[in-house]
Amino acid sequence: MKVVFENLTKKFPNRDRKSRTEVVAVDHFNFEIPDGELVGLLGPSGCGKSTALNLICGLLKPTAGKIFFDEDDVTELPAQNRGVGMVFQNYALYPHLTVKQNILFPLQNLKGAERPSRGKMLEKVQEAAKLVQIDELMERRPGELSGGQQQRVAIARALVKMPRILLMDEPLSNLDARLRLQTREEIRRIQRETKITTVFVTHDQEEAMSISDRIVVMNQGVVQQIGKPQDVYDDPCNLFVAKFLGTPPINLFHAKVKAGRLYIGEEAVLKTGGVPDQDVLAGVRPEGFLLNEQGALSCNLKGVEVMGRDISVVSSHSCAETAAVRSIISAQNKVDLTSANVRFDLKPDKVFLFDMRTEQRIDFTE
Ligand code: ADP
Ligand code: MG
Repeated sequence: MKVVFENLTKKFPNRDRKSRTEVVAVDHFNFEIPDGELVGLLGPSGCGKSTALNLICGLLKPTAGKIFFDEDDVTELPAQNRGVGMVFQNYALYPHLTVKQNILFPLQNLKGAERPSRGKMLEKVQEAAKLVQIDELMERRPGELSGGQQQRVAIARALVKMPRILLMDEPLSNLDARLRLQTREEIRRIQRETKITTVFVTHDQEEAMSISDRIVVMNQGVVQQIGKPQDVYDDPCNLFVAKFLGTPPINLFHAKVKAGRLYIGEEAVLKTGGVPDQDVLAGVRPEGFLLNEQGALSCNLKGVEVMGRDISVVSSHSCAETAAVRSIISAQNKVDLTSANVRFDLKPDKVFLFDMRTEQRIDFTE
């Protein structure tokens, strides 16, 4: 089942009563979530991710615009008739019910012809439990489970009705680092097995990049960019997207284009053909630096952090936006730690220029 947004907009009255302006939580969404894909909705806290999910499942009604499931306009359809499964950050399990009873619950709530026989229900519960690998824990109560196990129960409960669409709102946020990684792989596996169109909300770029077929990067209710994770990382459309994706984050320099060259301070560091003379913000991915004693860009060496396969060279530059410039280079390189300076060449495809005013990307040719 694909999900289509057509000018979808949700406004809230401002919580601050003195202010008359409305909050536009979801601002003219116009895109499509393809059938069978896992799409990551990614953006900082407050950018409208949960609002978007609640519009899909029908817990919220849009201020304007429409939602379609395949060709069906579901904008006015009540939540219980949409066939959507939902998983929340806090699991929201019933504490007094066993695992089995928790997963059974949505089936027992079905009415009339939709309601399967008792035997069929138990079969479906068993199937869902097996899928998320908690079929050994059926008689326990949520209090007797780890966070990761509780979240699996919540996923099984969302899957037991075989939803047309699965929505997950920051489902891993309450788990510790190791469980988060493990559960994220589980979610990926379950989604591949069931092929249910899934929308996965997170503010964690690494999580979204690793789990998604496609990411939708949002800021302040507005979709910034949609694409495969690697494509968006390699080709960000604006400063926000470039800054939001990647660890360590992109390094930013106040720079200048003059006569077809990019200047950081007094140094010409790159050919930037096709760009008129102007001040720009230059972003350099950490992996965009090449150590070279004759390199074009000179930074003040502060230290080196060992990361195993790679090393992170920490330096500073008067034109850099942050105190530290971080470059990731192969550990085979040797950095002379007694030197006050370190010189780099820049890889052109890892350098992005941005308009100072609009913060949109400026293309250049080498
Ligand atoms: P996210 O899930 O990305 O953190 P939300 O969708 O929860 O963001 O919120 C988006 C914006 O809408 C925020 O500014 C939030 O304060 C506002 N908002 C969300 N729900 C309501 C509501 N029920 N009433 C008023 N404002 C709301
Ligand atoms: Mg949220």
